[in-house]
Amino acid sequence: MGTTSHQGFNTQAIHAGQAPDPLTGAVIPPIYQTSTFVQDGINVLRNGHEYSRGSNPTRNGFETQLTALEGGHAGFAFASGIAAEDALLRAVLAPGDHIVLGADGYGGTNRLINRLHGKWGITNTPVDITDLDAVAAAVQPGKTALLWVETPSNPLLGIADVAGWARIAHAAGALLVVDNTFATPFLQRPLSLGADAVVHSTTKYIGGHSDVLGGAVIVARKEFRGEELAQSVGFQQFAGGAVAGPQDCFLAARGLKTLGLRMERHCSNAATLTDWLGTREEVETVLYPGLESHPGHELAKTQSNGFGGIVSILFAGGETAARAFAESMKLFALSVSLGGVESLVCYSAEMTHASVVGTPLAVPRNLVRLSVGIEQVEDLIADLEVGLAAARNASRQYAGAR
Ligand SMILES: *Cc1c(COP(=O)(O)O)cnc(C)c1O
Repeated sequence: MGTTSHQGFNTQAIHAGQAPDPLTGAVIPPIYQTSTFVQDGINVLRNGHEYSRGSNPTRNGFETQLTALEGGHAGFAFASGIAAEDALLRAVLAPGDHIVLGADGYGGTNRLINRLHGKWGITNTPVDITDLDAVAAAVQPGKTALLWVETPSNPLLGIADVAGWARIAHAAGALLVVDNTFATPFLQRPLSLGADAVVHSTTKYIGGHSDVLGGAVIVARKEFRGEELAQSVGFQQFAGGAVAGPQDCFLAARGLKTLGLRMERHCSNAATLTDWLGTREEVETVLYPGLESHPGHELAKTQSNGFGGIVSILFAGGETAARAFAESMKLFALSVSLGGVESLVCYSAEMTHASVVGTPLAVPRNLVRLSVGIEQVEDLIADLEVGLAAARNASRQYAGAR
């Protein structure tokens, strides 16, 4: 709508699906806060709108905007990232199907696939996302319908070779789904690398201001099991009903317009902090794909335009130091979630990944994840200095007490 595919990212972010209101000329399209639409005769619909579960102009505008940025064929907005994932899984899977699932991923995705879909006869095999041989070996011919991967992964920030995963999926007649929440379409477009569908928690970078929950599925033009993927997911959205409301779509669409600017700053702040953290004795390892020492660095350079705003730290002083660090800062707020303008810190083992404690998917107990915001970087460094002092004191006291 008003944009073409060769326009730049920021132009499309601002204009795709976001044309001024034709009725009044309002530059910003109104929020269509309505459940139902008047009909001009029985089943004579205006612009196809009947009932907001099926379609709503505010939601459709946001879907068009995000679909343009991902280079997709169609997009669908949901009430949360998990609702989007659930709809995609229901749209394409049947009882007895098998998923090859990237092991290092969002804890809630794992819970959804194992504990909800497991009951309906869906099985899965977790695999190291960086090991294509392991991915291929996990495929069960005739049973595997879906490969699912998150890159960069959460919270270890591993990098998966999306094109390689796509080749394995397609050789098996399966679909590849990429969770693009961490990278966002500004940094990485999985559909252009061969993925069949992208999922997002729009709660994170796309909304970008920690004030809205949402999710989305964007699909390539593709048939699966005799049906257009877009049709299957669209039907699931309508029939399953976990749609995003108009207020939430307005907030997500507003956030999405500045995604490019925000991501540039998230990336540059993260790079500065990573260099600084790397010089500190309290820090055993910094995990960030932008570091040359990161095993996925070269691959990340080939498939993305930047390395993102998420940084994980492994503390030399173990769990004690990690916990003290996470609990001691002011700007880095102790909180789950990520991708907002404000910086957050998370003790992943017990916060986002509590549901996988004691399993092979458990997160190291000396790990802390930072979601680096877009504040002034000097202020963030000063805050991290407070955190490192707390980490140092805590590990000294711990050593002294032993
Ligand atoms: C947050 C998150 C989700 C789940 O999204 P919700 O909006 O919280 O339901 C899925 N994947 C990743 C990578 C996430 O960070």
